[in-house]
Amino acid sequence: FFENEYVNPTKDRTLFYDFNYENKTRENGAIVVLVRNEELSSLMSSMRQFEDRFNKKFQYPYVFLNDKEFTKEFIESTKAMTNAETKYGLIPVEMWSYPSWINQTEALYARKKMEEDKVIYGGSESYRHMCRFNSGFFFRHPLIEQYDYYWRLEPGVEFMCDIDYDVFKFIKKNNITYGFTIALMEVKETIPTLWDTVKEFTKEYPEYMNKNSAMKFISNTGKNYNMCHFWSNFEIGDLNFWRSEKYIKFFEFLDKAGGFFYERWGDAPVHTIALALFLEKNQIHFFNDISYRHDPFEHCPIEKDVHEGGKCHCNPEKTFDFTWGSCLPSWFSL
Ligand code: GDP
Ligand code: MN
Repeated sequence: FFENEYVNPTKDRTLFYDFNYENKTRENGAIVVLVRNEELSSLMSSMRQFEDRFNKKFQYPYVFLNDKEFTKEFIESTKAMTNAETKYGLIPVEMWSYPSWINQTEALYARKKMEEDKVIYGGSESYRHMCRFNSGFFFRHPLIEQYDYYWRLEPGVEFMCDIDYDVFKFIKKNNITYGFTIALMEVKETIPTLWDTVKEFTKEYPEYMNKNSAMKFISNTGKNYNMCHFWSNFEIGDLNFWRSEKYIKFFEFLDKAGGFFYERWGDAPVHTIALALFLEKNQIHFFNDISYRHDPFEHCPIEKDVHEGGKCHCNPEKTFDFTWGSCLPSWFSL
């Protein structure tokens, strides 16, 4: 399997890696974890692999966020998983509630309908608040405001290769704004009017569009959205992009349209579309060397040198990269 040949576009770029991490200062970055108290044990398992594969070498602080108060047990147990600093924040209600212009009866009706249609998370109200929070607010939460870089971590995920360089230094040095490991197709029933709303936005703000963007990744001609998105349960990025005027305007435009509640717009397509409109394509990076699993998909490096170099415990034959539904081939063809 390791003999497989494919063109990894990162090989065409000169990227700066610095493996000398001892006695170095950290960048202004944090591990951001939105999580519920009930998810403690699967979060501890994520943290164990994340610490062993990466963070025990770098000691980046964790910021845990919740729409409810964290329990004493949650706080004690997560502190016990790391030597790094840990912070616990409550999400202000404005960031986790209905804006005034949303008709909640209509929203309830839409949830019922999507539940009947068996759309994934279609009937869930909290899931919608979660997606809206991740789309428009996490980066301006009072505990996150001070940071420049973030790595999003979820309960129940796995990291299957060593990461021996400071990923935040890496993205800073290489002028990378966003990094991903898995790209796939969105369930189209969750976003019936998202693309039309995006088109209205681009008509109103043509000056925001980037000429060297990754637009082709999400749409061939601009007419339709191909549903490709970066899977946002893993994200490494520059928070200042989400705080930029362009993105805030974009989020507010989408928020006004109501699709977070009347449909079930996910933060993954919302993030991806913004990245593909506003950034240079070189500012988006595929982290081939970070092996990551979030049920039901995983990315595992298939090159022998990368696999052995990272002491990986994943199976390259299980990698999602070139299987049905993956958008990585279309990323590579960019
Ligand atoms: P999936 O990955 O799309 O299946 O959705 P998840 O259930 O994993 O939710 C995505 C992230 O948001 C995870 O980190 C969850 O812990 C978190 N999350 C989802 N819903 C809530 C919620 O109601 N409250 C809090 N505090 N976190 C949530
Ligand atoms: Mn998840």
